[in-house]
Amino acid sequence: MTRADVAVVGSGPNGLAAAVTLARAGLTVHLHEQAATVGGGLRGAALFDSEVWHDTCASVHPMAAASAFFREFDLAARGVALLQAPIAYAHPLTGGAAFAYHDLTETCARLGPDGNRWRRIMAPLVRRSTGVTDFLLSGQRSLPRDPAAPLLLGSRLLRHLLRGNGLRTEAARALLTGVAAHAMGRLPSLPAGAIALLLGHLAHATGWPLPQGGSVRIADALADDLRAHGGVVHTDRRINDLGELDAPVIMLDTTPHGLVELAGDRLTPRYRRALERFRYGPGAAKADFLVSEPIPWDSPEVGRAGTVHLGGTRAEMLVAENATARGEAAKEPFVLVVDPAVTDPGRAVGGRRPVWAYAHVPNGDTRDPLPLITDRIERYAPGFVDTIIAARGVSAAAYETYNPNYPGGDIGAGAITLTQSVFRPVPAWNPYRTPLPGVYLCSASTPPGPSVHGMCGHLAAREALRREFHLAAAPSLGPRTGPSAPSSPSRHHEH
Ligand SMILES: Cc1cc2nc3c(=O)[nH]c(=O)nc-3n(C[C@H](O)[C@H](O)[C@H](O)COP(=O)(O)OP(=O)(O)OC[C@H]3O[C@@H](n4cnc5c(N)ncnc54)[C@H](O)[C@@H]3O)c2cc1C
Repeated sequence: MTRADVAVVGSGPNGLAAAVTLARAGLTVHLHEQAATVGGGLRGAALFDSEVWHDTCASVHPMAAASAFFREFDLAARGVALLQAPIAYAHPLTGGAAFAYHDLTETCARLGPDGNRWRRIMAPLVRRSTGVTDFLLSGQRSLPRDPAAPLLLGSRLLRHLLRGNGLRTEAARALLTGVAAHAMGRLPSLPAGAIALLLGHLAHATGWPLPQGGSVRIADALADDLRAHGGVVHTDRRINDLGELDAPVIMLDTTPHGLVELAGDRLTPRYRRALERFRYGPGAAKADFLVSEPIPWDSPEVGRAGTVHLGGTRAEMLVAENATARGEAAKEPFVLVVDPAVTDPGRAVGGRRPVWAYAHVPNGDTRDPLPLITDRIERYAPGFVDTIIAARGVSAAAYETYNPNYPGGDIGAGAITLTQSVFRPVPAWNPYRTPLPGVYLCSASTPPGPSVHGMCGHLAAREALRREFHLAAAPSLGPRTGPSAPSSPSRHHEH
């Protein structure tokens, strides 16, 4: 086997984004993945039925539609169609429901007395969506390209913390709080508010799309590009020690604890202690269903939504999310439901369709979430249980077995607190570098954090290109261009 310029450990969206960025710069990249297939959180499987495909983790991709990495990588031009449901997300409530339509005007019209307030929050963000997205999905160490972005966000965050964004109706308040709950932590909080504004405005901008055929299409497009630029992918290969890797530069799509395990006694005690202080957040416990018909929501309009939040009122979500963040099992936890065939009808085969839902639970929770999640959906969609052909529950604890990057079921690979939003994984000016020569962290445990945007991997790779290979120019990532940088870059050091 030829010696690589760079070894990447882990093939989640961030490992793949790092590998693609480095290969596009003309480097020889070897990627090592412990699972049988690439993708990490983008993987899927035919769980119950060989014809019906289930996303095992991520399904809905507002960040992949909007991030700077994927904008340039251009999934659509590579044949990955990002499909939009007419309603990005819905929030059923007793006796009704609230809706975030892809169309902002329709959303405001349906929100009645809060319509104008919703418009005042979202419209300016939608108008400057690229700047807002790039600011929030950055390494948080550089000046924003659009100086208006932090100002727009700052004023809204203040209102979010002090007055629930000034919204007055239960429908609008629940609608926005449901998006804030994606932060999986204390509510209200600054990081959750920022996530609500980012995801909330994207619903009306680039949308909350699903890739036709499943999230695995995104992983395949990335892996194809890597191979097309000379990269080598090793699956079924768990790396247990950095010494197994024959490359001067190593990119780790792992958690900080993964780095501690791989580095053994190579880390300085101080850095090791800092990594060990990194905290993980609540877990997600998931149920996968094979069903015979669309979910029979009480409010039929909910059936046009790509994502459905089951959390009750804003006050109920605050109680549940704060209890979960404290490590207590909430009586009625927040549940997020996706019926992919609503957006991508091809996902339903012969009248059978996949549905998945996860509940927010304490980190490490070992309970089977299937009864809880089934009951929760049944409450808002009477008759749902009669449509179930097959089902399985995956506890938060079991998610860690499936993927070590989800410790205790924390699908964010680290709690999203104010400190850990910026100092992720340790307080340092450069969050991707480690004290080990040539070793970088590039997973969702680094800024800008979780979701499928590829930015952690891309930014870590750009840092490695600058520091290790003296390549300051960004390689081009578009589908129809080759490497933009010299094909034999000078190497800063060997180790
Ligand atoms: C149930 C669930 C639903 C989600 N829904 C969404 C969603 O709808 N939209 C969204 O944007 N995000 C969603 N997410 C979050 C998203 O999947 C993650 O934020 C994202 O995948 C993180 O990417 P990553 O590359 O950092 O890590 P991962 O995708 O977790 O990949 C890490 C990879 O590294 C491998 N690995 C780790 N250690 C080693 C080792 N020592 N040797 C070899 N390989 C190793 C792992 O096997 C894994 O393949 C969801 C996650 C889960 C679990």
